Amino acid sequence: MSRLVMKFGGTSVADIDRIRNVARHVKREVDAGHEAAVVVSAMAGTTNRLVDWCRDAAALHDAREYDAVVAAGEQITSGLLAIALQHLGVAARSWQGWQIPILTTDAHGTARILEINGDELVRRFKDRREVAVIAGFQGIHRDTGRITTLGRGGSDTSAVAIAAAVQADRCDIYTDVDGVYTTDPRVVPRARRMNKVAFEEMLELASLGAKVLQVRSVELGMVHNVRIFVRSSFDKPEDIDPHGTPPGTLICNEEEIVEQQVVTGIAFSKDEAQISIRRVEDKPGVAAAIFGPLAEANINVDMIVQNVSADGATTDLTFTVPAADYERAEKVLVSSQGNIGYARIDGATDVAKVSVIGIGMRSHAGVAAKAFRALAERGINIRAITTSEIKFSILIDAAYTELAVRTLHSLYGLDR
Ligand code: ADP
Ligand code: ASP
Ligand code: MG
Repeated sequence: MSRLVMKFGGTSVADIDRIRNVARHVKREVDAGHEAAVVVSAMAGTTNRLVDWCRDAAALHDAREYDAVVAAGEQITSGLLAIALQHLGVAARSWQGWQIPILTTDAHGTARILEINGDELVRRFKDRREVAVIAGFQGIHRDTGRITTLGRGGSDTSAVAIAAAVQADRCDIYTDVDGVYTTDPRVVPRARRMNKVAFEEMLELASLGAKVLQVRSVELGMVHNVRIFVRSSFDKPEDIDPHGTPPGTLICNEEEIVEQQVVTGIAFSKDEAQISIRRVEDKPGVAAAIFGPLAEANINVDMIVQNVSADGATTDLTFTVPAADYERAEKVLVSSQGNIGYARIDGATDVAKVSVIGIGMRSHAGVAAKAFRALAERGINIRAITTSEIKFSILIDAAYTELAVRTLHSLYGLDR
Protein backbone atom coordinates (compact mmCIF):
# COMPACT_ATOMS: atom_id res chain seq x y z
CA MET A 1 0.00 0.00 0.00
CA SER A 2 1.23 3.49 -0.83
CA ARG A 3 0.09 6.94 0.06
CA LEU A 4 -0.40 9.07 -3.05
CA VAL A 5 -1.12 12.68 -3.87
CA MET A 6 -2.84 13.00 -7.26
CA LYS A 7 -3.08 16.47 -8.82
CA PHE A 8 -5.33 17.25 -11.79
CA GLY A 9 -4.92 20.49 -13.77
CA GLY A 10 -7.54 22.67 -15.48
CA THR A 11 -7.89 20.81 -18.78
CA SER A 12 -8.18 17.51 -16.89
CA VAL A 13 -11.28 18.79 -15.04
CA ALA A 14 -12.64 21.01 -17.86
CA ASP A 15 -16.18 19.57 -17.75
CA ILE A 16 -18.28 17.04 -15.85
CA ASP A 17 -17.26 14.17 -18.15
CA ARG A 18 -13.60 14.84 -17.46
CA ILE A 19 -14.28 15.12 -13.73
CA ARG A 20 -15.92 11.67 -13.93
CA ASN A 21 -12.81 10.45 -15.73
CA VAL A 22 -10.66 11.85 -12.90
CA ALA A 23 -12.89 10.09 -10.36
CA ARG A 24 -12.19 6.80 -12.15
CA HIS A 25 -8.42 7.46 -11.96
CA VAL A 26 -8.78 8.01 -8.22
CA LYS A 27 -10.99 4.94 -7.76
CA ARG A 28 -8.38 2.84 -9.56
CA GLU A 29 -5.76 3.77 -6.95
CA VAL A 30 -8.14 3.34 -4.02
CA ASP A 31 -9.21 -0.09 -5.31
CA ALA A 32 -5.53 -1.03 -5.53
CA GLY A 33 -5.32 -0.34 -1.78
CA HIS A 34 -3.63 3.08 -1.86
CA GLU A 35 -4.47 6.07 0.32
CA ALA A 36 -5.14 9.14 -1.80
CA ALA A 37 -5.27 12.90 -1.40
CA VAL A 38 -6.39 14.60 -4.60
CA VAL A 39 -5.56 18.22 -5.45
CA VAL A 40 -7.63 19.92 -8.14
CA SER A 41 -7.34 23.08 -10.24
CA ALA A 42 -10.21 25.22 -11.42
CA MET A 43 -11.98 24.04 -14.59
CA ALA A 44 -10.08 25.22 -17.71
CA GLY A 45 -10.66 28.92 -18.42
CA THR A 46 -12.29 29.60 -15.04
CA THR A 47 -9.34 31.31 -13.35
CA ASN A 48 -8.76 33.53 -16.40
CA ARG A 49 -12.40 34.56 -16.31
CA LEU A 50 -12.24 35.37 -12.60
CA VAL A 51 -9.05 37.41 -13.10
CA ASP A 52 -10.71 39.33 -15.94
CA TRP A 53 -13.72 40.11 -13.77
CA CYS A 54 -11.46 41.63 -11.11
CA ARG A 55 -9.74 43.78 -13.75
CA ASP A 56 -13.09 44.84 -15.18
CA ALA A 57 -14.38 45.81 -11.77
CA ALA A 58 -11.35 48.04 -11.23
CA ALA A 59 -7.98 48.09 -12.96
CA LEU A 60 -6.31 48.73 -9.62
CA HIS A 61 -7.92 46.46 -7.05
CA ASP A 62 -7.33 45.21 -3.52
CA ALA A 63 -5.17 42.06 -3.70
CA ARG A 64 -7.09 40.50 -0.77
CA GLU A 65 -10.34 40.75 -2.72
CA TYR A 66 -8.64 39.44 -5.88
CA ASP A 67 -7.76 36.34 -3.88
CA ALA A 68 -11.31 36.02 -2.52
CA VAL A 69 -12.53 35.96 -6.13
CA VAL A 70 -9.94 33.81 -7.93
CA ALA A 71 -9.80 31.12 -5.22
CA ALA A 72 -13.45 30.32 -6.01
CA GLY A 73 -12.64 28.24 -9.11
CA GLU A 74 -10.94 25.48 -7.14
CA GLN A 75 -13.75 25.35 -4.57
CA ILE A 76 -16.19 24.32 -7.29
CA THR A 77 -13.98 21.56 -8.70
CA SER A 78 -13.21 20.08 -5.28
CA GLY A 79 -16.90 19.74 -4.47
CA LEU A 80 -17.74 18.32 -7.89
CA LEU A 81 -15.01 15.70 -7.71
CA ALA A 82 -16.09 14.66 -4.21
CA ILE A 83 -19.63 14.20 -5.57
CA ALA A 84 -18.35 12.17 -8.54
CA LEU A 85 -16.27 9.95 -6.25
CA GLN A 86 -19.14 9.37 -3.83
CA HIS A 87 -21.30 8.44 -6.82
CA LEU A 88 -18.75 5.70 -7.66
CA GLY A 89 -18.95 4.43 -4.08
CA VAL A 90 -15.64 5.94 -2.98
CA ALA A 91 -15.66 7.73 0.40
CA ALA A 92 -14.55 11.32 -0.29
CA ARG A 93 -14.63 14.74 1.32
CA SER A 94 -13.70 18.14 -0.12
CA TRP A 95 -11.32 20.51 1.67
CA GLN A 96 -10.75 24.21 1.10
CA GLY A 97 -7.44 25.82 2.00
CA TRP A 98 -8.89 27.31 5.21
CA GLN A 99 -10.31 24.01 6.37
CA ILE A 100 -7.05 22.03 6.45
CA PRO A 101 -5.64 24.76 7.00
CA ILE A 102 -2.91 25.60 4.48
CA LEU A 103 -1.17 28.54 6.17
CA THR A 104 0.62 31.04 3.95
CA THR A 105 2.40 34.39 3.94
CA ASP A 106 0.39 37.55 3.31
CA ALA A 107 1.70 38.10 -0.24
CA HIS A 108 -1.79 38.06 -1.75
CA GLY A 109 -1.76 36.72 -5.30
CA THR A 110 1.67 35.11 -4.87
CA ALA A 111 1.57 33.73 -1.34
CA ARG A 112 4.04 31.13 -0.09
CA ILE A 113 2.97 28.13 1.94
CA LEU A 114 4.35 28.26 5.49
CA GLU A 115 2.76 25.27 7.15
CA ILE A 116 0.26 22.46 6.59
CA ASN A 117 -0.93 20.10 9.27
CA GLY A 118 -1.78 16.83 7.52
CA ASP A 119 -2.83 14.91 10.68
CA GLU A 120 -6.58 15.08 10.13
CA LEU A 121 -6.26 13.93 6.50
CA VAL A 122 -4.11 10.98 7.55
CA ARG A 123 -6.53 10.06 10.37
CA ARG A 124 -9.36 9.92 7.83
CA PHE A 125 -7.30 7.76 5.45
CA LYS A 126 -6.87 5.31 8.31
CA ASP A 127 -10.27 5.45 10.06
CA ARG A 128 -12.62 5.87 7.10
CA ARG A 129 -10.57 5.07 3.99
CA GLU A 130 -11.68 8.54 2.93
CA VAL A 131 -10.18 10.33 -0.06
CA ALA A 132 -9.34 13.99 0.62
CA VAL A 133 -10.25 16.22 -2.34
CA ILE A 134 -8.33 19.43 -1.83
CA ALA A 135 -8.86 22.76 -3.59
CA GLY A 136 -5.46 23.67 -5.06
CA PHE A 137 -4.05 27.18 -5.48
CA GLN A 138 -5.48 28.55 -2.20
CA GLY A 139 -4.55 28.93 1.43
CA ILE A 140 -5.11 31.40 4.25
CA HIS A 141 -2.83 34.01 5.70
CA ARG A 142 -1.39 32.69 8.96
CA ASP A 143 -2.23 35.79 11.01
CA THR A 144 -5.36 37.31 9.47
CA GLY A 145 -7.06 34.12 8.27
CA ARG A 146 -7.89 35.78 4.95
CA ILE A 147 -7.92 33.70 1.77
CA THR A 148 -4.69 33.79 -0.23
CA THR A 149 -3.65 32.31 -3.59
CA LEU A 150 -0.29 30.93 -4.63
CA GLY A 151 0.23 32.51 -8.07
CA ARG A 152 -0.80 31.17 -11.48
CA GLY A 153 -0.19 27.46 -11.81
CA GLY A 154 -0.15 27.24 -8.01
CA SER A 155 -2.07 23.97 -7.69
CA ASP A 156 1.16 22.13 -8.52
CA THR A 157 2.66 23.72 -5.42
CA SER A 158 -0.39 22.84 -3.31
CA ALA A 159 0.01 19.21 -4.39
CA VAL A 160 3.71 18.93 -3.57
CA ALA A 161 3.20 20.71 -0.23
CA ILE A 162 0.37 18.31 0.69
CA ALA A 163 2.58 15.38 -0.35
CA ALA A 164 5.29 16.61 2.03
CA ALA A 165 2.74 17.20 4.82
CA VAL A 166 1.18 13.73 4.66
CA GLN A 167 4.52 12.08 3.82
CA ALA A 168 3.20 10.66 0.57
CA ASP A 169 5.23 8.08 -1.30
CA ARG A 170 4.70 9.97 -4.55
CA CYS A 171 3.06 13.09 -5.96
CA ASP A 172 1.47 12.39 -9.35
CA ILE A 173 0.85 15.49 -11.47
CA TYR A 174 -1.80 14.54 -14.03
CA THR A 175 -1.95 16.98 -16.93
CA ASP A 176 -2.70 17.27 -20.65
CA VAL A 177 0.73 15.95 -21.74
CA ASP A 178 2.19 12.61 -20.72
CA GLY A 179 5.33 13.99 -19.09
CA VAL A 180 8.04 16.59 -19.29
CA TYR A 181 9.45 16.97 -22.79
CA THR A 182 12.77 18.30 -24.06
CA THR A 183 10.79 21.42 -24.97
CA ASP A 184 7.11 22.38 -25.24
CA PRO A 185 5.66 19.60 -27.44
CA ARG A 186 3.07 22.05 -28.77
CA VAL A 187 5.84 24.10 -30.37
CA VAL A 188 8.21 21.32 -31.38
CA PRO A 189 6.32 18.18 -32.38
CA ARG A 190 9.64 16.31 -32.45
CA ALA A 191 10.26 16.97 -28.76
CA ARG A 192 11.00 13.84 -26.73
CA ARG A 193 9.55 12.81 -23.40
CA MET A 194 12.16 12.39 -20.70
CA ASN A 195 11.92 9.47 -18.30
CA LYS A 196 13.72 11.34 -15.54
CA VAL A 197 14.75 14.95 -14.95
CA ALA A 198 16.91 16.20 -12.11
CA PHE A 199 15.33 18.72 -9.71
CA GLU A 200 17.94 21.37 -10.64
CA GLU A 201 17.18 21.04 -14.34
CA MET A 202 13.42 21.06 -13.79
CA LEU A 203 13.82 24.18 -11.67
CA GLU A 204 15.59 25.93 -14.56
CA LEU A 205 13.14 24.63 -17.17
CA ALA A 206 10.17 25.81 -15.10
CA SER A 207 11.59 29.20 -14.17
CA LEU A 208 12.66 29.86 -17.76
CA GLY A 209 9.20 29.27 -19.21
CA ALA A 210 8.17 25.57 -19.25
CA LYS A 211 4.88 25.99 -17.44
CA VAL A 212 4.25 22.27 -17.03
CA LEU A 213 5.15 22.70 -13.33
CA GLN A 214 5.04 25.83 -11.20
CA VAL A 215 8.57 26.76 -10.11
CA ARG A 216 7.76 26.65 -6.39
CA SER A 217 6.42 23.12 -6.63
CA VAL A 218 9.84 21.99 -7.88
CA GLU A 219 11.60 23.95 -5.12
CA LEU A 220 9.41 22.29 -2.50
CA GLY A 221 9.94 18.87 -4.04
CA MET A 222 13.68 19.38 -3.90
CA VAL A 223 13.69 20.58 -0.29
CA HIS A 224 11.34 17.89 1.04
CA ASN A 225 12.52 15.17 -1.33
CA VAL A 226 9.07 14.50 -2.80
CA ARG A 227 9.06 12.20 -5.81
CA ILE A 228 7.09 14.13 -8.44
CA PHE A 229 5.75 12.16 -11.38
CA VAL A 230 4.25 14.04 -14.36
CA ARG A 231 1.76 11.95 -16.37
CA SER A 232 -1.35 12.21 -18.55
CA SER A 233 -4.91 12.32 -17.27
CA PHE A 234 -6.17 11.43 -20.75
CA ASP A 235 -5.04 7.82 -20.57
CA LYS A 236 -8.05 5.64 -19.90
CA PRO A 237 -8.15 4.84 -16.17
CA GLU A 238 -9.20 1.25 -16.93
CA ASP A 239 -6.14 0.66 -19.15
CA ILE A 240 -3.63 1.49 -16.43
CA ASP A 241 -2.11 -1.19 -14.24
CA PRO A 242 -1.94 0.44 -10.78
CA HIS A 243 1.10 -1.71 -9.96
CA GLY A 244 2.95 -1.04 -13.24
CA THR A 245 4.95 1.99 -14.39
CA PRO A 246 2.88 4.25 -16.65
CA PRO A 247 4.41 6.62 -19.21
CA GLY A 248 5.54 9.82 -17.56
CA THR A 249 8.48 11.77 -16.18
CA LEU A 250 9.96 11.43 -12.72
CA ILE A 251 11.55 14.52 -11.19
CA CYS A 252 14.29 13.19 -8.95
CA ASN A 253 17.80 13.65 -7.61
CA GLU A 254 20.65 13.95 -10.08
CA GLU A 255 22.25 10.73 -8.79
CA GLU A 256 19.27 8.68 -9.94
CA ILE A 257 19.88 9.62 -13.56
CA VAL A 258 22.21 7.19 -15.25
CA GLU A 259 22.49 8.57 -18.74
CA GLN A 260 23.31 12.25 -18.57
CA GLN A 261 23.05 14.46 -21.67
CA VAL A 262 24.97 17.70 -22.00
CA VAL A 263 21.78 19.56 -22.92
CA THR A 264 18.49 18.23 -21.51
CA GLY A 265 15.96 20.80 -22.60
CA ILE A 266 15.03 24.14 -24.13
CA ALA A 267 12.63 26.60 -22.55
CA PHE A 268 11.30 29.90 -23.81
CA SER A 269 9.29 32.82 -22.59
CA LYS A 270 7.59 35.63 -24.44
CA ASP A 271 6.66 37.43 -21.25
CA GLU A 272 9.80 39.56 -21.35
CA ALA A 273 10.45 43.22 -22.01
CA GLN A 274 13.72 44.91 -22.83
CA ILE A 275 14.74 48.30 -21.50
CA SER A 276 17.80 50.18 -22.76
CA ILE A 277 19.05 53.26 -20.96
CA ARG A 278 21.05 55.40 -23.35
CA ARG A 279 24.12 57.44 -22.47
CA VAL A 280 24.21 56.83 -18.75
CA GLU A 281 27.23 58.28 -17.03
CA ASP A 282 29.97 55.69 -16.65
CA LYS A 283 30.83 56.19 -12.99
CA PRO A 284 30.55 54.30 -9.68
CA GLY A 285 27.04 54.13 -8.20
CA VAL A 286 25.10 54.27 -11.46
CA ALA A 287 24.01 50.61 -11.41
CA ALA A 288 22.85 51.07 -7.83
CA ALA A 289 20.89 54.20 -8.80
CA ILE A 290 19.12 52.24 -11.55
CA PHE A 291 18.49 48.85 -9.96
CA GLY A 292 17.88 50.05 -6.40
CA PRO A 293 14.56 51.79 -7.15
CA LEU A 294 13.47 48.87 -9.38
CA ALA A 295 14.11 46.42 -6.55
CA GLU A 296 12.21 48.63 -4.14
CA ALA A 297 9.28 48.56 -6.56
CA ASN A 298 9.48 44.74 -6.46
CA ILE A 299 10.44 44.50 -10.14
CA ASN A 300 12.59 41.52 -11.02
CA VAL A 301 15.46 42.41 -13.32
CA ASP A 302 16.84 39.48 -15.26
CA MET A 303 19.41 39.84 -18.06
CA ILE A 304 21.79 42.81 -17.76
CA VAL A 305 24.21 44.01 -20.42
CA GLN A 306 26.46 47.01 -19.94
CA ASN A 307 29.01 48.21 -22.43
CA VAL A 308 32.38 49.61 -21.48
CA SER A 309 32.24 53.17 -22.69
CA ALA A 310 34.61 54.17 -25.47
CA ASP A 311 35.02 57.75 -24.29
CA GLY A 312 35.06 56.98 -20.56
CA ALA A 313 32.09 59.30 -20.09
CA THR A 314 28.80 57.61 -21.02
CA THR A 315 27.58 54.14 -21.90
CA ASP A 316 24.39 52.17 -22.71
CA LEU A 317 22.81 49.75 -20.27
CA THR A 318 20.27 47.11 -21.35
CA PHE A 319 18.26 44.75 -19.17
CA THR A 320 15.02 42.76 -19.12
CA VAL A 321 12.01 42.80 -16.81
CA PRO A 322 8.77 40.74 -16.89
CA ALA A 323 6.49 42.17 -19.61
CA ALA A 324 3.78 42.71 -16.99
CA ASP A 325 6.09 45.11 -15.12
CA TYR A 326 7.35 46.99 -18.17
CA GLU A 327 5.29 50.15 -17.78
CA ARG A 328 5.85 50.31 -14.07
CA ALA A 329 9.60 49.91 -14.58
CA GLU A 330 9.65 52.75 -17.08
CA LYS A 331 7.81 55.01 -14.64
CA VAL A 332 10.27 54.21 -11.88
CA LEU A 333 13.22 55.03 -14.17
CA VAL A 334 11.72 58.27 -15.42
CA SER A 335 11.10 59.43 -11.88
CA SER A 336 14.72 58.70 -10.93
CA GLN A 337 16.21 60.25 -14.09
CA GLY A 338 17.70 63.14 -12.13
CA ASN A 339 19.46 60.77 -9.80
CA ILE A 340 20.71 58.34 -12.48
CA GLY A 341 21.57 60.79 -15.27
CA TYR A 342 20.84 59.46 -18.76
CA ALA A 343 19.80 60.76 -22.20
CA ARG A 344 16.79 58.54 -22.96
CA ILE A 345 15.07 55.19 -22.45
CA ASP A 346 14.26 52.75 -25.29
CA GLY A 347 12.02 49.79 -24.69
CA ALA A 348 10.66 46.75 -26.50
CA THR A 349 8.07 44.16 -25.53
CA ASP A 350 8.24 42.09 -28.72
CA VAL A 351 11.20 40.11 -27.40
CA ALA A 352 11.56 36.53 -26.20
CA LYS A 353 14.02 34.69 -24.04
CA VAL A 354 15.18 31.27 -25.21
CA SER A 355 17.15 29.15 -22.74
CA VAL A 356 19.23 26.00 -23.10
CA ILE A 357 19.47 23.86 -19.97
CA GLY A 358 21.64 20.91 -18.97
CA ILE A 359 23.63 19.79 -15.96
CA GLY A 360 26.26 18.48 -18.39
CA MET A 361 27.21 22.08 -19.21
CA ARG A 362 29.14 22.17 -15.95
CA SER A 363 31.82 20.01 -17.51
CA HIS A 364 31.54 20.81 -21.22
CA ALA A 365 32.98 23.89 -22.93
CA GLY A 366 31.69 25.48 -26.13
CA VAL A 367 28.02 24.52 -25.71
CA ALA A 368 26.81 28.11 -26.05
CA ALA A 369 29.24 29.02 -28.85
CA LYS A 370 27.66 26.32 -30.99
CA ALA A 371 24.23 27.92 -30.52
CA PHE A 372 25.40 31.40 -31.47
CA ARG A 373 26.75 30.07 -34.77
CA ALA A 374 23.57 28.13 -35.59
CA LEU A 375 21.35 31.13 -34.83
CA ALA A 376 23.54 33.44 -36.91
CA GLU A 377 23.18 31.07 -39.86
CA ARG A 378 19.40 31.46 -39.56
CA GLY A 379 19.74 35.26 -39.46
CA ILE A 380 18.55 35.50 -35.84
CA ASN A 381 20.04 38.47 -34.05
CA ILE A 382 20.90 38.11 -30.36
CA ARG A 383 20.09 41.15 -28.21
CA ALA A 384 21.46 39.93 -24.89
CA ILE A 385 23.00 36.80 -23.37
CA THR A 386 23.24 35.46 -19.84
CA THR A 387 24.89 32.30 -18.64
CA SER A 388 25.06 30.29 -15.43
CA GLU A 389 26.49 26.93 -14.47
CA ILE A 390 23.80 24.77 -16.04
CA LYS A 391 22.07 27.06 -18.55
CA PHE A 392 22.40 29.97 -20.93
CA SER A 393 19.70 32.32 -22.19
CA ILE A 394 19.49 34.56 -25.22
CA LEU A 395 17.14 37.43 -25.89
CA ILE A 396 15.81 37.67 -29.46
CA ASP A 397 12.95 39.20 -31.45
CA ALA A 398 9.74 37.41 -30.45
CA ALA A 399 8.93 36.66 -34.10
CA TYR A 400 11.89 34.25 -34.22
CA THR A 401 11.02 32.29 -31.07
CA GLU A 402 9.75 29.11 -32.69
CA LEU A 403 12.55 29.08 -35.28
CA ALA A 404 15.18 29.53 -32.58
CA VAL A 405 13.70 26.83 -30.34
CA ARG A 406 13.51 24.33 -33.21
CA THR A 407 17.02 25.18 -34.42
CA LEU A 408 18.53 24.63 -30.96
CA HIS A 409 16.44 21.54 -30.35
CA SER A 410 17.94 19.81 -33.41
CA LEU A 411 21.39 21.30 -32.85
CA TYR A 412 21.74 19.54 -29.49
CA GLY A 413 20.39 16.24 -30.78
CA LEU A 414 17.11 16.43 -28.90
CA ASP A 415 14.81 15.70 -31.87
CA ARG A 416 12.96 12.45 -31.78
P1 ADP B 1 -2.36 21.97 -16.07
O1 ADP B 1 -3.60 22.71 -16.40
O2 ADP B 1 -2.57 20.48 -16.05
O3 ADP B 1 -1.67 22.49 -14.85
P2 ADP B 1 -0.51 23.42 -17.76
O4 ADP B 1 -1.14 24.02 -18.97
O5 ADP B 1 -0.23 24.30 -16.61
O6 ADP B 1 -1.40 22.16 -17.32
O7 ADP B 1 0.86 22.69 -18.17
C1 ADP B 1 0.89 21.74 -19.21
C2 ADP B 1 1.37 22.39 -20.50
O8 ADP B 1 2.73 22.79 -20.35
C3 ADP B 1 1.40 21.48 -21.70
O9 ADP B 1 0.15 21.46 -22.35
C4 ADP B 1 2.51 22.05 -22.57
O10 ADP B 1 2.03 22.79 -23.65
C5 ADP B 1 3.26 23.01 -21.64
N1 ADP B 1 4.70 22.78 -21.63
C6 ADP B 1 5.64 23.73 -21.77
N2 ADP B 1 6.87 23.21 -21.76
C7 ADP B 1 6.73 21.87 -21.60
C8 ADP B 1 7.66 20.78 -21.51
N3 ADP B 1 8.98 20.98 -21.57
N4 ADP B 1 7.15 19.53 -21.35
C9 ADP B 1 5.82 19.33 -21.28
N5 ADP B 1 4.90 20.32 -21.37
C10 ADP B 1 5.34 21.58 -21.52
N1 ASP C 1 -6.33 27.64 -11.41
C1 ASP C 1 -5.07 28.27 -11.13
C2 ASP C 1 -4.46 28.85 -12.40
O1 ASP C 1 -5.00 28.73 -13.46
C3 ASP C 1 -4.09 27.35 -10.46
C4 ASP C 1 -3.71 26.13 -11.27
O2 ASP C 1 -4.41 25.73 -12.19
O3 ASP C 1 -2.67 25.55 -10.95
O4 ASP C 1 -3.43 29.48 -12.35
MG1 MG D 1 -0.42 24.17 -14.52
